[in-house]
Amino acid sequence: MKTLQRTLTIVKPDAVRKNAIGDIIEQFEKNHFRILAMKMLEISKHQAAQFYAVHANRPFFNSLTDFMSSGPIVVLALEKENAVADLRKLMGATNPANAEEGTIRKKWASSIEHNAIHGSDAEDTARFELSFFFAGYELAQ
Ligand code: ATP
Ligand code: MG
Repeated sequence: MKTLQRTLTIVKPDAVRKNAIGDIIEQFEKNHFRILAMKMLEISKHQAAQFYAVHANRPFFNSLTDFMSSGPIVVLALEKENAVADLRKLMGATNPANAEEGTIRKKWASSIEHNAIHGSDAEDTARFELSFFFAGYELAQ
């Protein structure tokens, strides 16, 4: 049985600076993701650290949280059958050097850190990440 899934995506500060918001949202629509909610905001380094808490012990954590708080981001709640895996596929590999042709990171990422887009990596992380940025009443019916 096919079931709808929800996932959380972020257009990261590097992609916002490159004026890639429209192109990336067009990719979501063309690939049949339904947009349930969307907002542009800036997060603090502390908020970035809470969001990426699973990476707290990684060597890139300090740099990652500086980057994610360096300017506006756009966060979206997306819905589709198999949304988590399908979004990861559309994003491409973390390191743009390994990103497949036609993926968002192939087109817009400039380094393994400045890689244009975030997507939840599993259903449980998607639930945490959706509730981090959106209250239930903000999601479309
Ligand atoms: P995201 O969680 O942002 O969707 P991802 O799941 O592809 O990306 P993760 O391993 O979860 O990759 O890493 C989170 C983010 O940390 C990456 O998207 C990237 O911005 C940054 N990052 C990951 N590995 C490195 C690294 N080796 N050096 C610098 N930054 C890194
Ligand atoms: Mg990740």
